[in-house]
Amino acid sequence: MKNKILIALALVTFSASLFAKTQVIAHRGYWKQAGSAKNSISSLINAQTIGVYGSELDVHITADKVVVVCHDDSIQGHDINTSTYSELKDLKLENGEALPTLAAYLEQAQKNTGVKIIIEIKYKKDAELEKRTALEVVNLVNGLKMEKQVEYISFSMNICKELVKLSPKTPIAYLAYKDFVVSPKELKELGISGLDYHYSLLLQKPEFVEEAKAAGITVNVWTANDPAIIQKLIDLKVDYITTDEPVKALELSAK
Ligand code: MG
Repeated sequence: MKNKILIALALVTFSASLFAKTQVIAHRGYWKQAGSAKNSISSLINAQTIGVYGSELDVHITADKVVVVCHDDSIQGHDINTSTYSELKDLKLENGEALPTLAAYLEQAQKNTGVKIIIEIKYKKDAELEKRTALEVVNLVNGLKMEKQVEYISFSMNICKELVKLSPKTPIAYLAYKDFVVSPKELKELGISGLDYHYSLLLQKPEFVEEAKAAGITVNVWTANDPAIIQKLIDLKVDYITTDEPVKALELSAK
């Protein structure tokens, strides 16, 4: 009896993995809408209305340890890491919104727990600064009990390793664009749960998707916006596509 149940469970799991659809992640939110901007709270609100798996954002830490949502190291000439939050808080994004804090972003995220929040902690030359940023981000997320709604990504292996220590149960993916410097097997051994590579790398080496799946690692790709490329990635059965065109990607992945 027990064996039959185990076999049935294995079949269900196998079928689910065979037919699992590629999921869509809105890159810096769904910002291609009137009145929105990349990494704005409005871009998250938009992403929350279209049925995506997740919405991605980038974070940095201020000199007084406030985590803010921004892609670049600086905003309007102000270096984020060496500025205090009070020096930055009134700076406006393209849509007129104030520079969002991660705390405010997560507050909006809690209004729709069906949308994952994919937090990219940006690479820094200073390893201690990277560690400090990872710690502040994880403290914020865990303080809000959002561990299950959040996933982490980073180009920094130092940050990924730190996240494994701080939040081992949260999905953590390693970003890359130049070369496959770390194999899926090595990522798995480090406790990192996914790879997140520029789509051109996977199109050059499509067998990497199977290698990752065999190692138990998820495959995300960025930033695929051309429908023909999105379709190729869906055909490769990647787990996630991060895109500036989430509505198009949703249409294609639903077919
Ligand atoms: Mg990013």
